[in-house]
Amino acid sequence: MSVFIDRQFLLRISPKLQRFSQKKDDLYNFRCPLCGDSQKNKTKCRGYVYRKKNGYFYMCHNCGISTTFYNFLEKVDPTALREYALERYKDGDTGNNNHKRADFNEIKKETPKFKKSLELPTINSLPEAHFAKSYVQQRKIPESFFSQLYYAEDFKQFVETLGIEKESLHKDDKRLVIPFYDKEKNLIAIQGRALGQSKLRYITLKMDEDNQKIFGCDRINEDELIYVVEGPIDSMFLENAVATADSNLESVISIYDKSKVVLVFDNEPRNKEIVRKIDESIEKHFNVVIWPEMIESKDINDMILDGFSPDEIQDIISKNTFVNLRAKAEFVNWKKV
Ligand SMILES: [Zn+2]
Repeated sequence: MSVFIDRQFLLRISPKLQRFSQKKDDLYNFRCPLCGDSQKNKTKCRGYVYRKKNGYFYMCHNCGISTTFYNFLEKVDPTALREYALERYKDGDTGNNNHKRADFNEIKKETPKFKKSLELPTINSLPEAHFAKSYVQQRKIPESFFSQLYYAEDFKQFVETLGIEKESLHKDDKRLVIPFYDKEKNLIAIQGRALGQSKLRYITLKMDEDNQKIFGCDRINEDELIYVVEGPIDSMFLENAVATADSNLESVISIYDKSKVVLVFDNEPRNKEIVRKIDESIEKHFNVVIWPEMIESKDINDMILDGFSPDEIQDIISKNTFVNLRAKAEFVNWKKV
């Protein structure tokens, strides 16, 4: 049984894997050695080895890699790989034969769910000179997201393959595709950012009318404060953030406790709509960020492009999170309408 060999080799190389632990039978967790996991938080462990049929697979929720145990071992320990290949394939064992082992429990285990990838090229897989890749590089989107963002040559055609009905789309509309997953890693919505001539910059489509459309739920640690921003791309620069894909940031309370969320509205003190929404959220006792005067950029991505680092932004946000009376006072100073 080849899964037996996979397990044996995983345990053998486990001293090399930081914070290695066994979660349950055939489910192991550790810091991803391929992307390095979070550099800021050394306790983050987003690499998982899990069982699929007769073999182990590897998946990282940070870089999004999903591959066979063979490929994983090749990257982590090429010496062990040689021995592994000999062991695993010596009897022509391709993982399909069924000789039973007495010590092996054949009961089907609950398989952890993992993000489904879209039938589109990832940004990661595009050649360096491709304009879609240049676009995400210009916006300084963290590279760890390149494997989770996609490029659609024809967004309309792609949307049709998902079974979503949308009449107003045009043919040959080139877009960056951002998938939204729920906590259980189900695809719940997609957003297409125009890369061509289209006047509609963002199109967000739900897989199902009843779905939420909150981006980033799959990477949230619910034990910590959750930051809520409008733009999915903005959320990629923060540690524990989701995006609502519209200015209705309060909609997150359909899935998270009000006390656990911080609403981070765009920095637009002259935008009546945003000013009104912040005022309302303060009245409803939400934690809100009121941007300090020195910040002129209108959203987080602009702050990045203006030279702030994600750490600096995270710091500014935590120092400028307010609630109730203090929030009201800061808000009155901030707004320009
Ligand atoms: Zn990784």
